[in-house]
Amino acid sequence: MKKTTYFVSFLALLFLSFLLGSCSRVSEGSNKAAEKIKLFVTATAQTEALKNPSPKDDAADDPAVWINPNDVENSRIIGTDKTGGLAVYNLDGKELFYYPDGRLNNVDIRYDFPLGEKKVALVAASNRSTKDITFYQVEETDGSLRKLPTVGFESPMKKNVYGFCLGVDTLTNTFYAYVNSKLGEVVQWKIQSEADTLKGEIVRTLKLSSKLEGMVADDTANTLFIGEEGKGIWKTTLTPNSSEVSMLADSDLKNNTMLEEDIEGLAIYRGGEGKNYLLASSQGNYSYAVFELVAPHRYIGSFRIKDGRVDAAEETDGIEAVSVALGEKYPQGIFVVQDGFNKDAKGKAIPQNFKIVDWRNIDSLIQNRMKK
Ligand code: CA
Ligand code: CA
Ligand code: CA
Ligand code: CA
Repeated sequence: MKKTTYFVSFLALLFLSFLLGSCSRVSEGSNKAAEKIKLFVTATAQTEALKNPSPKDDAADDPAVWINPNDVENSRIIGTDKTGGLAVYNLDGKELFYYPDGRLNNVDIRYDFPLGEKKVALVAASNRSTKDITFYQVEETDGSLRKLPTVGFESPMKKNVYGFCLGVDTLTNTFYAYVNSKLGEVVQWKIQSEADTLKGEIVRTLKLSSKLEGMVADDTANTLFIGEEGKGIWKTTLTPNSSEVSMLADSDLKNNTMLEEDIEGLAIYRGGEGKNYLLASSQGNYSYAVFELVAPHRYIGSFRIKDGRVDAAEETDGIEAVSVALGEKYPQGIFVVQDGFNKDAKGKAIPQNFKIVDWRNIDSLIQNRMKK
């Protein structure tokens, strides 16, 4: 072959490998590690794809659910777009509101927060644009969000804010916000209000060894769970009186071969005695691990969300679980997950979204397959 032919073949090969590389990332989402997971459910519904990001952007990240106290069927899914805001959807997945308030990463909700004279549902998210926490009050009329003024929530961490959750000490009705960083830092704020303004006071800082993100608080057990992406799930007290952390033995990536890093979103499902679970997104094998919520947090099993009425969920970041009945459609609540590879009905890659699973599907897996 002539020199030029060599060069052209080289270029062609380079181009081909580039194509293959990007295709496997964006469209296919095939994954050898995921083949180990043999239990499946399908999603019942999905949210609209995010409107601003491109299909290649890692954009959707973490959901929360506002349970409408007056009309559960009109509850709302609140999902972060980490490229620029926060979207609010109805349970059919229709986008109702979008707030372009910065690179909001993780979002959480707590009810009955004393704001001045009122009690409100408080939604909050870690904001990587403003390096602090953005807070909202849920408007009960339509589930829209009203941004609240804040003081004292600027992050003192060396790295930018990343994972986030809320927690309530139910003994004293004290509300807390927790933020972490990719350096393993955790900061806890006490949240108070003066008229309409939220005031933050740092009450504890912790330092783990590497990248953290997913967190969830079990208010009734005074426990904060912290996911260290490459290691496993830690727990500590929700209240700031302890700096001890301990690893959930069954979540340790060194021991549990059904988990594949990163450990991402964490969520709690509270279905009553014997049906209380801690869930974790095992991002590396596109699955969700189920643990008993009660100590020692025994591992029950893992499942994936496969293609069904809507496409499968892959490479999930944030998750949320709701155990309250959301009308006839979801009598045992829902499980909501971010989908890393969203596809339209023809299989074409489109911007990311959130998948909604009827909890009954997961409950029957747990009762019939995992607990046998
Ligand atoms: Ca992602
Ligand atoms: Ca969340
Ligand atoms: Ca992450
Ligand atoms: Ca998908």
